Amino acid sequence: MDKNCFYDVYLNEKRIATVGPSTLKQLHISFGVSDEMPLVRASGISDKEPGLLYIEWLEESVNFDDSLRISPSKEKVASSPRFTRKLKRGIESTEEDSYCEFCKCSEKEAGRLVWLGDNAQICEECVMHCVELFKENE
Ligand SMILES: [Zn+2]
Repeated sequence: MDKNCFYDVYLNEKRIATVGPSTLKQLHISFGVSDEMPLVRASGISDKEPGLLYIEWLEESVNFDDSLRISPSKEKVASSPRFTRKLKRGIESTEEDSYCEFCKCSEKEAGRLVWLGDNAQICEECVMHCVELFKENE
């Protein structure tokens, strides 16, 4: 098997992203329902220098009757990511751990987390980052 495999994500037979390579530390392509809205999402974690990177390629609302297909890509180039974030000290978090929804750091890594609404938590560093962004845009 080709370890450098990339994957094409098709929505109604139209390619919406190429993600990969599969040699990333983690690669997730998922379909889920959030607040009754079906979503397709693709993200990965790279452990290349400088440190761990969280890469998100795709987060798209879809309809319940849309068709999604994932197949190995012939291209060896991934689509440009929506964003890339540096992870601070690796991902020790498991599903049960609390983590910051924005930088994906666990409570162990990020320190205290506060709840934003019912579903998401945020760390102090991300809050400060937001405050700065608001200040810049004033
Ligand atoms: Zn954070």
